[in-house]
Amino acid sequence: MRRYCEVSVGRDPLELMDVDVPEPRSREVLIRVSTCGLCPTDIDVIEGRVIGKLPVIPGHQAVGYIVKIGDEVSKVSIGDRVGVAWIGRSCGKCRYCVAGLENLCEEFKGTGCHIDGCYAEYMVAHEDYVYRIPSNYDDLEAAPLLCAGAIGYRALKLADMGDGMSIGLVGFGASAHQIIQVIKNLYPNSRVIVLTRSIEHMELARELGADWVGHPKEDPPEKLDRAIDFTPVGEIIPRILELIKPGGRLVVNVIRKRTPITLDYTKHLWMEREVKTVANVTRLNVREYLKIAEKIRIKVKYQKYKIEELNKTLKIIKEGKIVGAAVIKI
Ligand SMILES: [Zn+2]
Ligand SMILES: [Zn+2]
Repeated sequence: MRRYCEVSVGRDPLELMDVDVPEPRSREVLIRVSTCGLCPTDIDVIEGRVIGKLPVIPGHQAVGYIVKIGDEVSKVSIGDRVGVAWIGRSCGKCRYCVAGLENLCEEFKGTGCHIDGCYAEYMVAHEDYVYRIPSNYDDLEAAPLLCAGAIGYRALKLADMGDGMSIGLVGFGASAHQIIQVIKNLYPNSRVIVLTRSIEHMELARELGADWVGHPKEDPPEKLDRAIDFTPVGEIIPRILELIKPGGRLVVNVIRKRTPITLDYTKHLWMEREVKTVANVTRLNVREYLKIAEKIRIKVKYQKYKIEELNKTLKIIKEGKIVGAAVIKI
């Protein structure tokens, strides 16, 4: 991608081109990409709501195999299967990094944004920012664990969920369909309320054990202790806050909203209702999430596309028409 461009019908924002295979520098590895998961944040990068470098190769949910290592690489070897996630680099020294909040580091670098990503046959990554993929997943099913899953898991942690609570999942795509499985496992006495506009997403939510499923305009049978918003639109925020109990919390699991948020203090926030955003992801979140996925065997629903279909696939994601996650087989 050479410039920011709207993802819309009639436009192809990405250009398929031949580029040199990158050379791994000290402590970096060269990965032959096998699968790349697509993420709505890729659309934020392409449309310029998240600013990185230009030109850039987007994509930040990679599963691949190490084919070459730079100097001083000691943690991984040639032939290893690894994953790469959104966190491409952080400084490691600032107060956020030291406190385990490297997702907030001022020098945070996003894969496929500030660093070239995995919409490619090859990519480089620092050895400290790659992950071993659980052996009970194939490459295609593993890719959406790395961002959709890991950032959804961070959102769930920030929600401060407890067993027996009611939690709303708003929007039911690549991330929420994984997180409902984690909630059902970790908090077996909780009730999961799913709000989505898509009939296909409603069906998937029921299949995965949602206790109540409806359209965001419908009123669920009970008010919510917690909610996680997975949608790209701003106007859903006041609606969710109307459904939150006093003292309840809403976590917004998206890097950018495409439309504005208008709140009324009394109607939406009064009675100690809280809104918390999720910024990026830490390496610990990714590692922990891969462990949970391996243990409880989270089933990832995905649709497979070819790299030549990237532009078309991004448009389908923008329209919210993917059931589960979209992955590209390289
Ligand atoms: Zn992502
Ligand atoms: Zn830092």
